[in-house]
Amino acid sequence: MADCIFCSIVDGDIPSYTVYEDDDVMAFLDANPLARGHTLVIPKAHHERVNDLPADLSTAVFDAVHDLTPHIEAAVDAEATTIAVNNGAAAGQEVPHVHVHVVPRSEADGGRP
Ligand code: 5GP
Ligand code: ZN
Repeated sequence: MADCIFCSIVDGDIPSYTVYEDDDVMAFLDANPLARGHTLVIPKAHHERVNDLPADLSTAVFDAVHDLTPHIEAAVDAEATTIAVNNGAAAGQEVPHVHVHVVPRSEADGGRP
């Protein structure tokens, strides 16, 4: 979609540090990370909210979150992960293209991101 930052990342028009990519899903490091290794997992197709996703794409996105999380934790030596979606502007969604925040956590960081 025109003027969508994440569609531009999918198209390669905005650079990103890509962590994972397949036909349907892309994962890349957040430009303003809450913690080292903070990753965003997105559908390549433009959909604004979780409930706009076709079921198979929703499954693909959350399967990627499932599979990537232990690798991301290991990469930054984290003990746990905050997995979150801001679903709609009033919930804090700034980029209107579905994205799952995968934020590595450890006891030392003291709780909430
Ligand atoms: P939201 O508030 O919509 O849930 O989160 C949007 C996230 O996208 C923020 O954490 C922000 O740092 C990240 N972000 C915004 N623009 C870019 C960008 O151009 N590249 C990358 N890698 N992340 C971005
Ligand atoms: Zn988009």
